[in-house]
Amino acid sequence: MQIAIDGPASAGKSTIAKLIAKELNFIYSDTGAMYRAVTLMAKLNNVKYNDEENILLLMDKFKISFKNSVEGQRVFINDQDVSEEIRTVEITNNVSEVSALPIVRERLVEEQRRIAQEGDVVMDGRDIGTTVLPNAEVKIFMIASVHERAVRRFKEYESKGIDVSLETLEKEIEDRDYKDSHRKISPLKKAKDAIELDTTGLSIDQVVQKVIDIIKK
Ligand code: C5P
Repeated sequence: MQIAIDGPASAGKSTIAKLIAKELNFIYSDTGAMYRAVTLMAKLNNVKYNDEENILLLMDKFKISFKNSVEGQRVFINDQDVSEEIRTVEITNNVSEVSALPIVRERLVEEQRRIAQEGDVVMDGRDIGTTVLPNAEVKIFMIASVHERAVRRFKEYESKGIDVSLETLEKEIEDRDYKDSHRKISPLKKAKDAIELDTTGLSIDQVVQKVIDIIKK
């Protein structure tokens, strides 16, 4: 079984997808983490975020992998744990440029489809229902108001000691959504057969319950 959860930035996709995967004992696949890891590879190797040719060489040289640990799923570039580095402001604000590169998408979509062959899967991202797993049995398009999404990110940054204003976060979220939904290849878009789920004002438990109800249906 394949469950695709797509939607704009900070709509709660990965939090919910992880909990659903745990509840159903499915594989969880965080596709955003892969685009973030490629962006980090470019940064660490002083390759420009639009330099497709050299980014491709980096993708040949470095392997992205995931490992489950007591703290949850960890992300690796070769044997280096980069779970925190891929979530910095610098990576968050540049990942859309890297994810718009055709060759990067081609490679990562191939890898995502391979992961989905390994068993029942919950995969979250921007193009899972439209491109990566167009035959997924359940497709959810998760949304929330820009303000609420910025507040969620604000709390996450606050807990990490990162000082960013709410206004800045609102602008960054809007910018990233604009870039992700206006790129040429598989832009962020609700699949025709996806169910829209607005999580504004809902608790994590309430959203999990709604998703479970959709899956049961
Ligand atoms: O989900 P997350 O915010 O971690 O995703 C980071 C970025 O990766 C997105 O803003 C988007 O540019 C890219 N992405 C994508 N396609 C996906 C998942 C993420 O283009 N399936």
